[in-house]
Amino acid sequence: MNTQSISAQMEALRDTINEYNYQYYVLDNPTVPDSEYDRVFQKLKALEAENPALITPDSPTQKVGGQPLGAFEQVTHEVPMLSLDNAFSEEELTAFEKRVKDRLKDDSALPFSCEPKLDGLAVSILYEQGQLVRAATRGDGQVGENITANVRTIGNVPLKLRGQDIPERIEVRGEVFMPKAGFEKLNNAQREAGLKVFANPRNAAAGSLRQLDSRITAKRPLMFYAYSLGVVSPDTFELPDSHHARLRQLAEWGLPMCPEIDTATGAKGCQAYYEHILQQRDSLPYDIDGVVFKVDTIALQEELGFVARAPRWAIAQKFPAQEEMTRLLDVEFQV
Ligand code: NAD
Repeated sequence: MNTQSISAQMEALRDTINEYNYQYYVLDNPTVPDSEYDRVFQKLKALEAENPALITPDSPTQKVGGQPLGAFEQVTHEVPMLSLDNAFSEEELTAFEKRVKDRLKDDSALPFSCEPKLDGLAVSILYEQGQLVRAATRGDGQVGENITANVRTIGNVPLKLRGQDIPERIEVRGEVFMPKAGFEKLNNAQREAGLKVFANPRNAAAGSLRQLDSRITAKRPLMFYAYSLGVVSPDTFELPDSHHARLRQLAEWGLPMCPEIDTATGAKGCQAYYEHILQQRDSLPYDIDGVVFKVDTIALQEELGFVARAPRWAIAQKFPAQEEMTRLLDVEFQV
């Protein structure tokens, strides 16, 4: 294929993904299953890897999420909220571990934090003097939407942290999601009332959280699990030096944590965790679309840093597609 036709193919893929992103992130109304989205996205990534000169700065592979909705006040993230790179097989997981080790020039077995990849939406919650003062969506990673009033209605989000020794300012990040049972109940009620049914729990969580009237959000069965930190001040505040220990610290301060979070050593240990969680998938009370592995040592995370839209020290290993889209069109998706 000549450069011109490759370039045209890449442009078509970018347009398709941008349209999917708009439907998914801005309108909370996905038009294709995630597996189809991932297929098109990986196709663009592969073409970009073979033709780096043709990567455009506006490519969806260089950006996070979607534009924040104008209806909400905007919040600029002090530390960007990034996405995650994906692995779709054990080979890709092993390749991730090798990239990390090569970059660190260290061949020893690395500890990883292992976490279910909750299928909801990323939220940042800021506590000052232990009090919840602001909550925001990820938005495009730099600027999100101020959804404080809505997050305050989520039952398991503490409005005040527990304990004495807490940083003056601490930003907790995690996922807001709708448990499966709540989703079924909500969709039944919507159907009976002749209202819109949601495509899946992720879509229902996003629609519920981005309500302009927080009384509606308060009636929706949302939950939050914390999985990382954003800004912490003063910078002299001593936090544990591993990600997993930081999560345990957050739990002590009263933040809800996914019970399945664990640690493992090396890609082999991570693969065993993946298989264990995959087996549990159907019996878990919430939807997950994979697992996330994070290099556990904070100093190594800092050394590894970030690329355009994702940290180099983490990867999401996706599960095989298990799609159910209530409103999905009956068409073949081909790009
Ligand atoms: P992502 O979902 O692949 O990974 C990043 C996100 O994972 C984070 O922002 C966070 O919300 C979530 N997450 C869950 N558990 C986590 C944990 N323990 N630690 C860290 N993060 C955790 O990336 P993305 O940029 O949010 O979205 C891309 C994905 O969204 C696609 O792979 C696709 O599945 C879906 N998508 C679908 C459509 C569609 O039209 N169907 C469109 C856009 C995106």
